[in-house]
Amino acid sequence: MPHTTATPPTDRRPAADSDHGTDADTAPTVAREGAKEETFPELSLKLKLVNLVAVVLPFIGFLAAFVLLWGVAFNWIYLGLLVMMYTITAVGITVGFHRLFTHRSFDCPDWVRMLFGIFGSMAVQGPVIEWVADHRRHHQHSDVDGDPHSPHHHGDTVGGVIRGAFHSHVGWLFRGRPKNSVRYVRDLLEDPMVRFVNRHFVLWVALGLLIPAVIGGLVTMSWTGVLLGFLWGGLARVFLVHHVTWSINSVCHIWGSRDFRSHDESRNNLIFGVLAFGEGWHNNHHAFPTSARHGLRWWEIDLSYLLIRAMKMVGLASNVRVPTPERQESKRLQRDKNADT
Ligand SMILES: [Zn+2]
Ligand SMILES: [Zn+2]
Repeated sequence: MPHTTATPPTDRRPAADSDHGTDADTAPTVAREGAKEETFPELSLKLKLVNLVAVVLPFIGFLAAFVLLWGVAFNWIYLGLLVMMYTITAVGITVGFHRLFTHRSFDCPDWVRMLFGIFGSMAVQGPVIEWVADHRRHHQHSDVDGDPHSPHHHGDTVGGVIRGAFHSHVGWLFRGRPKNSVRYVRDLLEDPMVRFVNRHFVLWVALGLLIPAVIGGLVTMSWTGVLLGFLWGGLARVFLVHHVTWSINSVCHIWGSRDFRSHDESRNNLIFGVLAFGEGWHNNHHAFPTSARHGLRWWEIDLSYLLIRAMKMVGLASNVRVPTPERQESKRLQRDKNADT
């Protein structure tokens, strides 16, 4: 497949301000121009099982910690801190880093963009510009050569399958990045606000750990509260957001249904649709990358989109992009045509 140049998204945006009618996906941030319809072999059971175990076990461990430590080193205060910090930082990634900065699926005032940049940085998934470069690369090369985190094409032996599952989940983070990443993020590099947020990444990370520690201390008026606030609202929350977001890269390219034509193995997955605030509708997303709405059917829960809609209602979001029903139909896979919409 020929490598193509990523065009800055602003050049291709339609001007319409509607969340009903824009033909958003015709102008993806990183179009696979000239891409042929790639074909992918049936996924092996080995790959599916390895991925399932690697993803589910840490969740079970986490739940076990909740139960075992309840009343000892965990209670409603720290659960509240965990949920609050999880929500703020996960939204920073899904609405901020992903739908706003990577795909520019809606516009908002600069101060709101800055807040999303800071909240996303608190999730400790790298500075915003690097994150966006990786993700735009993923869309351009998803599941073929050049994809930074595909679980596929690592060999069919047990070792290869485990390597693929590990690589897509977390291993890819420890590989060096290609030197040409700059071409994916020229628009962000020209934005002084984004450069400021990017430069102070470590400060936002520290704030994200400090805030729950301070709240824990103030609520309980104790140093134990500071420590437990730091552990649950800080470290445990970072782990949880990491694990859920990275599962999109692995689980949602292996497990789930394919409702739309896309040039990759992306899947729609209900569990991660809920846990990852709408990001689990990943086949929808790969089919319509610049859509602000990932859960395209009424029952495909998409909390990130609900937030964007609420922001639009109070004037904090505009140019919210969603593909027209006709456009969706034209990409829907045949076996799905009669399904409930
Ligand atoms: Zn993907
Ligand atoms: Zn994306």
